[in-house]
Amino acid sequence: MKDLMVINMDDQLYRGIIIRQNNYGDAHRMLSVFTETDGIVKAVRYGVRGKKASNAAAFQMLSYGDFRLRPSRGEVMTAVSADIIDGFFPVCEDIVKLALVNYFADITYSLLGEGNPDRRILSLFLNTVYAAAYRAEPLSKLKCVYEFKLMCAGGYMPDTSGCAECGGAAQYFSPDGGCFSCSAHRRGGDMPVSAAAVSVMRYLAGCPDRRMLAFGVPDVKIYRETGAVTERYVSAQADREFASLSYFKSVAEMQGDVW
Ligand SMILES: [Zn+2]
Repeated sequence: MKDLMVINMDDQLYRGIIIRQNNYGDAHRMLSVFTETDGIVKAVRYGVRGKKASNAAAFQMLSYGDFRLRPSRGEVMTAVSADIIDGFFPVCEDIVKLALVNYFADITYSLLGEGNPDRRILSLFLNTVYAAAYRAEPLSKLKCVYEFKLMCAGGYMPDTSGCAECGGAAQYFSPDGGCFSCSAHRRGGDMPVSAAAVSVMRYLAGCPDRRMLAFGVPDVKIYRETGAVTERYVSAQADREFASLSYFKSVAEMQGDVW
């Protein structure tokens, strides 16, 4: 007699990148894969930490390629096999870069949640990880650019014209309001911004995503300053702090990195 309880579903192929991994049981690994078609999905890779584990490197943070996933009754699928296009090893092997990309993954997860496909955000994430791996860009630049562009793509595009009240000079930024204010209209919590940081934010608000890194500033401190504003903006809109951000900063400091 046919068992009607068992539905035979085919494995499906997902193009995506692993953005989170956690140990699961003694030998398994829980993965979050940011896929093109289904957004962030969860899958278990069984036996990946065992002695007989095969192809373990394919099922780790930042592996990008085609994953064959098998649906199961719950929300978590089983990772059957993977055909990897890039593992972004220069990031994985650099503790500071990896900490920063972990933070990017964190804010992406927080903004998007699971099961929401978003090719624009996936592309922003991939291009940023690519730049971290293969391009000589300061990490402070990648940080403010990704934070800002992620917010734009997620529906939180800041108003980068003048003071939201009077149209006057942009001298402060409100992380809660997502807009600038002048000295007469600033409110509590608004952060002072230099003209240079305002220029960076205006560039990012106006440029196509593919041009998001195609600019420079005379001093990398300007990226740090812009990043101090964009990280507050991410945090205010997400209504939470990110431990991965503090971790990145402490690791960068321990390594003596000027980022
Ligand atoms: Zn004003």
